[in-house]
Amino acid sequence: MLDDKLKSRLNYCTTLPSLPAVAIKIIELANNPEADIGETCQYISLDPVLSAKLLKTANAPLYKSRRVATNIRQAVSILGTHSVIVIALSFTLANSLMKKSPSSPLAFDHDIFWRRSVASALASRALGEKLNLGFLDDLFLAGLVQEIGILAFLTIMPEEYGDIFSAVTDHDQLLQIERQTFGAGHDELGCALLQKWHIPDYIALACLASHSQPEPKSLDPTLQACVAVSRYLADYFLNPQDARKMATLTQTARAWLDLDDTALIDVLQLMENGLKPIEELFDIKIHHSSEAAAIMAEAKELLMIHSLSRAKELEEKSQRDGLTGAHNRIYFDETLRREFHLSAQYQLPLTIAIIDLDHFKQVNDTHGHLAGDSLLVTVVSTIYEQIRQDDTLSRYGGEEFALILPGTTLAASRNLITRLKDAIAAINYKLDGHFVIRITASIGVASNEPGVAHFNEPLDMIKAADSALYAAKHAGRNQIIEWKP
Ligand code: GH3
Ligand code: MG
Ligand code: MG
Repeated sequence: MLDDKLKSRLNYCTTLPSLPAVAIKIIELANNPEADIGETCQYISLDPVLSAKLLKTANAPLYKSRRVATNIRQAVSILGTHSVIVIALSFTLANSLMKKSPSSPLAFDHDIFWRRSVASALASRALGEKLNLGFLDDLFLAGLVQEIGILAFLTIMPEEYGDIFSAVTDHDQLLQIERQTFGAGHDELGCALLQKWHIPDYIALACLASHSQPEPKSLDPTLQACVAVSRYLADYFLNPQDARKMATLTQTARAWLDLDDTALIDVLQLMENGLKPIEELFDIKIHHSSEAAAIMAEAKELLMIHSLSRAKELEEKSQRDGLTGAHNRIYFDETLRREFHLSAQYQLPLTIAIIDLDHFKQVNDTHGHLAGDSLLVTVVSTIYEQIRQDDTLSRYGGEEFALILPGTTLAASRNLITRLKDAIAAINYKLDGHFVIRITASIGVASNEPGVAHFNEPLDMIKAADSALYAAKHAGRNQIIEWKP
């Protein structure tokens, strides 16, 4: 919470920009649910610059209007009274703050601050558009002013804050240090400033909430989540070459708004479409016009590459067992079917082995299930150290693994499988650093080998390896038995 000292510094600060009369009138309108079109037009007409900007906005492609507005009344009827008030508020706030920026330490770059703020506004609106939300202009305003607390800090304590601000480059880290040093972050201070100005509460609170993680699985994509993601989106929009910025963006967009990488590409496109008109309206250059197209093309391409590698990663993950990282049963079944087919069609040898750990129940009973789990992980990494790239290890059941050795005869498999058995028996699993657990395995082997052994289908091979395994258990465990026709 904002402590009283900080609050009074904010309240009695004389260097904070005071809002121009027209901004105050517009804030009044924004807080008046009964504000009507006539009153709105009347106030806006008092400010010729603002009027011109609103006319331009109403006619901008952003609003996809088929009508052309030639006066304020038409602009209001195209955009709607609420939108006009919110847009007017965006302009007047940005205008008065950009112009009357506090005299601040050299380290603070106002241009970067406002580029980032306007880009966040654009991002927040584009996210809302992609998600078909109805309050795009509110999203724009909240995105625009969400970092206003930074300006407030700079104004009320230029020296102390300037040092901190120039020392950190990461936004989330900045917030953390502010909280440690001043007892409040720029999110809270910004919210307090917006409330002091009587900016409608939902905007002030959205700025506050946008700096903490949105409620997980909140019902709908909300104002808060869009504003929160917009900051990361703006950072990427401004620095598409920065891999970390992309990583943060893709993570937050997925977690908070359920937007995947391809949806983000669409959002970037929406931002790109809105870039020029917004730059003109706010009289700011976010990207140099000559570079903008190339930068945006690169940003989209990088996201596309990210999306493809993630899809691959997910596919790979879906084929693996969650505990041990070995392939799973589904993958085993598919691979065996494919290899069996190749073996039959091209007369190639194929060997499979089923590995079952001995007396594993005792491990669980003696040392607990968790110790059993980590032993399984160790066994799998031990097996992986012995096998080739073309061999497939799968977790077949609880403590049972299956190995597919394509192109390998029974005779050729002997070396490898003996090595495996010995490596497992050699595991010295240290529990809590001192207690050692030992384990052995019984292994059943079956080969499909032209001229030696013939199977009709993959399932028959599994049955054969299983019966050999059963025999190995009966013969005293910790041994290998090969199936004979
Ligand atoms: P043997 O195979 O030598 O006949 O004896 P065993 O005790 O290994 O045989 P059994 O198949 O009867 O028991 C297997 C045990 O493996 C039972 C189960 O508690 C344990 N197990 C299966 N899956 C897991 C697992 O994911 N984690 C742990 N910790 N234990 C598991
Ligand atoms: Mg067992
Ligand atoms: Mg078993």
